[in-house]
Formats: sequence, C-alpha cells, structure tokens
Amino acid sequence: MADQSEPAGSKRRILEFLLANMGRIIDGEELRAVSGNASEWARRVRELRTEEGYQILTHRDRAELKPGQYLIETDKRLPAFARDISKETRAFVLERNGYTCQMCGLAAGDTDPFDPTRKVRLTMGHTIDKSKGGADTANNLRAICTNCNEGLQNSAPQKPDRLHLLTQLRRATIEDQLAALEWLERKFAKNRPKRQDG
Ligand SMILES: [Zn+2]
Repeated sequence: MADQSEPAGSKRRILEFLLANMGRIIDGEELRAVSGNASEWARRVRELRTEEGYQILTHRDRAELKPGQYLIETDKRLPAFARDISKETRAFVLERNGYTCQMCGLAAGDTDPFDPTRKVRLTMGHTIDKSKGGADTANNLRAICTNCNEGLQNSAPQKPDRLHLLTQLRRATIEDQLAALEWLERKFAKNRPKRQDG
C-alpha cells in the first residue's frame, strides 16, 4: 500500500475527491481527511490550483464561501499563463514588502510558529479580494504568509506604534539590534522611500 503521507498520493486523492464532488461546497476538514491527514493538505490544494490550473474556488474568489470552504465547478484547467500572478509581479511585491508578511510580520525563512520544523513561506494576498473585484496587480497585492492566508492566524497583531517599537529596540541586546539593523539595511538597500511625516 502507498504511503498515506506521500505528497503526490495525497494530492491525487484530494483531486479525485474534489472532482467527485463538483458543485458542492466542501469543507477543508473533508479535504484533510481524504488526503490521509496529510499535514500539508492545504499546500497540495494550492498546488492543484497554481501548478495544475484546477479552478478550486475559495472565499477569496466567491463571496458565498466561508474561509476554509472550497468549491470546484468544472474539471477544466486554466492554461499556464492564466493560472497565477506573474513572476515579475510577485518579485516586485515581495521586494516592496521586505519579504515580510503584511499581516503578522513574520519574514520568509523565520520559524513557522504553527510547525517549528518548517520555515515561514510567503504567498500573494489580495488587498481587495478577487470575489469583490480585486485584480492580480501589484497595487492590489501584498506579501502574506501561508498561515495568515489560510486564516490560521485569526487576528493580525496590531502594528506597533513608533514609541513602543523604538523602546523595545533600545532595550534589546546589541546582537538583536544588529539583526534589526541588518534587516532594515537589506529591506531598504534598493530603494529607500522618503518619510511621509517629515
Ligand atoms: Zn502572517
């Protein structure tokens, strides 16, 4: 028998289940179960969408879907060019956002708080959801970690106010201050915007 956790196997099972349930709103928990409880089932769904072009809809595409629900209405696959945001747009947005999740502040390569064996991965999030007419353009996109994108992080922490941020930095160890400096230097190496408030 095939290993239940093998990625290709769990992806096939998810796809077969989706296609057998075309037109019915499917709960993420159902997909987790058919995947053989694969820890990365949501990633497999994303791959079916972005790499194979299956039109698996989520609440970002359809207002009637709740977070965690999926719907597939056709087994037609989108051609490769129409599947996803272009590489150039993605690179531009990641660079602009300093390779940092704009909801929770984790950066690409940080330890994943939900699974310490993994690193944080960033994906493209829409500021205005596609279900509300938002486009795949750079000004409607922002870097979001996969946890925030999947709604695992229910509430984004508040943005720290400047005084709080600076007091934290001043109290930090030299090593942590240097890490912050290096991160800022990397972030603003290519372009450093003028401050808005003088
Ligand atoms: Zn995040």
